[in-house]
Amino acid sequence: MAIPLALLFSWIPMLWAHRAAYHTNDGDAGWPEPPPADWPAQPDTANSFSGVWGAHVEGAAHNLGKLAETRRQDPTVIVHWMSRWEFGVPFRSVSRVAMSTQAGRTITPTPISMWQTGLQTPNWFRGGLAAREFVPVRPIWWGLLANWLIFAGLVWGGVAAISSLRKTRRRRRGLCEGCGYVMAGLATCPECGLGRHVS
Ligand SMILES: [Zn+2]
Repeated sequence: MAIPLALLFSWIPMLWAHRAAYHTNDGDAGWPEPPPADWPAQPDTANSFSGVWGAHVEGAAHNLGKLAETRRQDPTVIVHWMSRWEFGVPFRSVSRVAMSTQAGRTITPTPISMWQTGLQTPNWFRGGLAAREFVPVRPIWWGLLANWLIFAGLVWGGVAAISSLRKTRRRRRGLCEGCGYVMAGLATCPECGLGRHVS
């Protein structure tokens, strides 16, 4: 039960991730992930977006300034784009990356593995939002493990609390703590054999 919960909470922040706020502009940050061999070694623009719970985006591009100068009319101006998305609550536990090149106005996604890009979402869910384009499938192991431990603790705590409440209620009513049989002064439950809790 804790594992499905940890997975569910890895993806839930996709619902509000598009509200992430522009955070920093750091041209020295480098590409969020190692770029393909034929890409420029360093981007000249890098941003990160956060400010919403459970989502973080890092973006970088090369040659954006040149593209703006030519008003996106010159197809010989090649721009490289990359963004890395991380989702998960309470800890970020899955990630994906998107890469593309742009020549003039034409944007071409760079072919990378499904493991990196994630699984494409249906149109009705996507609604034109980049944050919802793909469901990430790459685990961030420490985050996933931490979330799993937290959810396991919550599930275990909940089960223990309910069981303890039920036992207390049965004891007060003079019923067997184990099965709810009416004890009526008996020391041992004839139904399940549990000894009566004498308070
Ligand atoms: Zn019993």
